[in-house]
Amino acid sequence: MNVYDSDKMKDIFLSHNILPTDDYTKADFVVLNTCHIREKATEKTFSDLGRFNKKGKKGQTVIVAGCVAQAEGELIQKRAPYVDLVIGPQSIQSLDHFLKKDDFKEKAITEFDAIEKFDTLNQIKTNHSSKTAFVTIQEGCDKFCHFCVVPYTRGAEYSRTVYEIEDEIKALVDLGVVEFTLLGQNVNAFHGKDASGNTHSLASLINHLSEINGVERITYSTSHPISMTDDLINLHGTNEKLMPYLHLPVQSGSDNVLKLMNRKHTRDFYFDIIEKVRKVKPDIALSSDFIIGFPGETDKDFEDTIDLIKRVKYMNSYSFKYSPRPGTPAANKKMISDDILDERLFQVQQLLNEQQMEYNKKFITKTVSVLIDGAGKHEGQLKGKSEFNQSVALLGEKKIIGQIIPVEIKDVLSHSLIGERA
Ligand code: SAH
Ligand code: SF4
Repeated sequence: MNVYDSDKMKDIFLSHNILPTDDYTKADFVVLNTCHIREKATEKTFSDLGRFNKKGKKGQTVIVAGCVAQAEGELIQKRAPYVDLVIGPQSIQSLDHFLKKDDFKEKAITEFDAIEKFDTLNQIKTNHSSKTAFVTIQEGCDKFCHFCVVPYTRGAEYSRTVYEIEDEIKALVDLGVVEFTLLGQNVNAFHGKDASGNTHSLASLINHLSEINGVERITYSTSHPISMTDDLINLHGTNEKLMPYLHLPVQSGSDNVLKLMNRKHTRDFYFDIIEKVRKVKPDIALSSDFIIGFPGETDKDFEDTIDLIKRVKYMNSYSFKYSPRPGTPAANKKMISDDILDERLFQVQQLLNEQQMEYNKKFITKTVSVLIDGAGKHEGQLKGKSEFNQSVALLGEKKIIGQIIPVEIKDVLSHSLIGERA
């Protein structure tokens, strides 16, 4: 979602004829769009700010946007007084207002106003050069998992209207985009209204969007298990534009930990969803997020996570050591020792890597359809993405960038496939 927000801020600058540069030392404006989800991401904000201060052009306007700006605005102003403006993730549109006035005196804007955000952003021309695009359809979260800052930094759950989303997607189709990732912190809790005031679920929205000429692929991220409704599950069996890929974070395989995390579902509930999805789409690629070492996680709880991974079999996943976040209910709970955390994370990642390799190996000699999205690492090589969300490399001419072509898989590396045009 930060990529999406960054692109929107870039669109705002472009609408003021301010062009992007790769070299921050020469830039008139530097915007650091930040993430607060784990401590490491927050620390990075301060080290990057230090660098801008030392090496940035004299008189450079420094703007900190995103969730660190929202949560730590005062600290930023104290530790980095040279920062001109702090804007929260739901106030990025205020950049337009500041650029119009050419005055950054206000210092901090951290309102939670998703309606005003999208009303303003809808007026700004979209610039996009890639074949794939993220489109935020839902923002914020009301679920309050005990480890998570999102409800505090992105605010309450909000769904954009169906017509706004349609307009944005049509504008992107006109620019040549064929693959869309619908974004939300709880994307499957989407409940946006159409022009007649009727509420649509995510499944209904996807059906709508897939009728737009030029939309070839749709996927969505990130879903919460308790909002995984039957209409959405069944859509995976019926809508051909919906990619056979589902990112459904479980966080832990232990009922005890899921309860401590306030996840509001059990492991059996999660297994039921996986079973239902696989019934309608047997070859669906599954992925998840895992938090390792949440306070109170015992050896047995950890074994339950390993067991869940072994039972589900993922195509890829993200796993993180638990990071205490200020202001969340779990923040002051006793931490598990670093040695145990490291050992558990290592075990989980080893298993997930093995599963990814196993999953990918099954594709050797099979043909997948690949959206070619750019040049590869080596001379003459192209890279793209299969419908199962795997990275694929192949030899080919640059003129086919942007096409979806059949590719026969010849070999697999740890995180990607190697193929030839079929
Ligand atoms: N809404 C999604 C997750 C959004 S946050 C869901 O409910 O699953 C993205 C991921 O960051 C989470 O899935 C989680 O695995 C990780 N994460 C969030 N807070 C964390 C924390 N305090 N420590 C470690 N990882 C965290
Ligand atoms: Fe965070 Fe997701 Fe839980 Fe919301 S549902 S609090 S975004 S982990």
